[in-house]
Amino acid sequence: TKYGKDNDSLLSFRKKYIGKSLSLQYKNPLQIVRGQGPYLIDPWGKKYLDTLNNVAHVGHEHIEVVNAGRMQMALLNTNTRYLHKNINELAEILLSTFPPELNVVHFVNSGSEANELALRMAKTATNGKGFIASEVGYHGNTNACIDISSYKFDGKGGKGKPDYVEIFPLPDAFRGKFRGENTGEFYAQEVEKCIQNLKNKNIPLAGMIIESIISCGGQIELPEGFLQKSFDLVRAQKGTCIIDEVQVGCGRVGKTFWGFQLHNVIPDIVTIGKPLGNGHPLAAVVCTAEIAEKFANGMEFFNTFGGNPVSCAIGSAVLKMIKNENLQENALKVGDFLKNELKQLAKDFPIIGDVRGQGLFLGFELVNSQLQPLEEQTTYLINRMKEFGILLSSDGPDHNVIKIKPPMVFSIENAIEFLFYLRKVFAEDFMKLT
Ligand code: PMP
Repeated sequence: TKYGKDNDSLLSFRKKYIGKSLSLQYKNPLQIVRGQGPYLIDPWGKKYLDTLNNVAHVGHEHIEVVNAGRMQMALLNTNTRYLHKNINELAEILLSTFPPELNVVHFVNSGSEANELALRMAKTATNGKGFIASEVGYHGNTNACIDISSYKFDGKGGKGKPDYVEIFPLPDAFRGKFRGENTGEFYAQEVEKCIQNLKNKNIPLAGMIIESIISCGGQIELPEGFLQKSFDLVRAQKGTCIIDEVQVGCGRVGKTFWGFQLHNVIPDIVTIGKPLGNGHPLAAVVCTAEIAEKFANGMEFFNTFGGNPVSCAIGSAVLKMIKNENLQENALKVGDFLKNELKQLAKDFPIIGDVRGQGLFLGFELVNSQLQPLEEQTTYLINRMKEFGILLSSDGPDHNVIKIKPPMVFSIENAIEFLFYLRKVFAEDFMKLT
């Protein structure tokens, strides 16, 4: 076709008409035409094991999810100004996964939109406008989301931190400002400094936003006690506490359904995205009754697509499949196995400096003996693994952390295959620690 068939012609058409800031993975990008469980498949039938897609949460093209969308699409899809049982059903199933304090939901269409709404809710509820967020945090592509995402405004093409935002250092116990165990208190003191900086500028606090495991920052687990202490500090100034579960949530961490539950806190607002629609654009903002009440200040919140019958049918099917197929338990079992095996691998190949994460949200970091990041080796590993049919991705401020966040149907056998090829590539000359 004129749109291209082989990779070269697809790429040249794309280069002509699609915005240049949209990036592709790999120097020689893949053409993917089908998905199935934990696999992606190219037009020639080659299967790739997907270790990075946390959107295809219950597996690529899960039949129950596909059918839920297909059936509802054939009946009706419209905006949310009519009564419909699908939005009620999804609200009930989703809210049943939260502690009782979090009991109101607004549906939207993307993680960015969810965070955009969360920021607006926090501002409306507090009459504040200052926000506190993490270094190397990413929360979405809208103007307000970019303003709180140091991953973007401190990166290429970024214009730096806006006045109303304060950033605390990445709470990274391996290579961060404070290292080792028991750093929660020290990082919370950094949050306190941010609060003080806003005060000095006479900017009233609206809230703090953070992921429950910081993904773009390099799969950074929050130090023990950090969230609890930070929330106390923020609430003492009447700010709201927002947790971004767009990447981490929906059973992925294994031990709990939501990442924040690993830390014994209850946020005021939680944002949910990627996994909820298993690839269909569906996201949500869950909040307390108090925030919801304050947000309903007379200004209507209208969202043409958010919470439509098709999206809600899909969302309910996804949440049911997580439960029916015991995917949270699978994440715990396979995640623990994988993490232990990766720690073994790190003993044989000390280039792996740190293995971290929870459930099927893991990461490992490549460093030299002085703990300096090894970006080139990370890129080499990703490209070599592709040749063996395994898809990997990296992140972190130094692009040296491999992120593991596969579809939750990832099995022990998938993990064994993945580990086999990792061991093979780590034994190659390019990966020798110098
Ligand atoms: N929050 C986090 C933590 C994310 O990783 C992302 C997307 N990578 C977003 C928000 C934005 O979500 P979306 O791309 O669906 O707008």
